Amino acid sequence: DPIRFAIVGRPNVGKSSLMNMLAGRRVSIVDPTAGVTRDRLSTGAQIPLEDGSGGMLSLEIVDTGGYGIVDRDDLAGEVERQIAEGLGECDAVLFVIDAVDGVTPLDERAAKVLRESGAGSGGGKPGQPNRSAKPVVVVANKMDAPTQATEGWEAMKLGFGEPVFVSATTRHNRHELEARLREAA
Ligand code: GDP
Ligand code: MG
Repeated sequence: DPIRFAIVGRPNVGKSSLMNMLAGRRVSIVDPTAGVTRDRLSTGAQIPLEDGSGGMLSLEIVDTGGYGIVDRDDLAGEVERQIAEGLGECDAVLFVIDAVDGVTPLDERAAKVLRESGAGSGGGKPGQPNRSAKPVVVVANKMDAPTQATEGWEAMKLGFGEPVFVSATTRHNRHELEARLREAA
């Protein structure tokens, strides 16, 4: 069975674009207008195994926030609903932020909801890893080039470890993203 990753994050950080990159084709609508997209909910993605076998790891990426019209007056509520829906059915979480914007209050709120849901290392006792926690990979997207100015390190304060800096547009660092997906799977 494919490993299911829920892709979560506030509107416009590039969730649909990342889905397309991982799928290797256009499965989601990318919209410059935040929150006005009607996307496919999930897609398969294959990433190469690193054991030299030439085999592939099968993933399913689920974009629970990617459909319908977002209630712009209650973005925090939207993101929370997205996480609640996504977390139940997934094995791991891709939490996307914008590498240029850094961490916004809405990102912090989403991170808090994730931690309280027991994702990542949260939910365990201090000093003890929570083995039931679903892994969270923080993706700082829109890192279009290595020289791109970034506030992405602010992601460290979200409590899910180091972000992986990628660009869905230029595909910069996609192999690093794949490596982090393999670790989390
Ligand atoms: P979503 O709302 O999180 O699904 O975000 P979308 O994938 O629809 O992207 C929102 C906007 O950000 C669109 O205008 C995209 O073209 C743009 N975008 C997405 N990924 C990148 C990226 O890696 N670099 C840049 N520069 N823009 C991006
Ligand atoms: Mg989208």
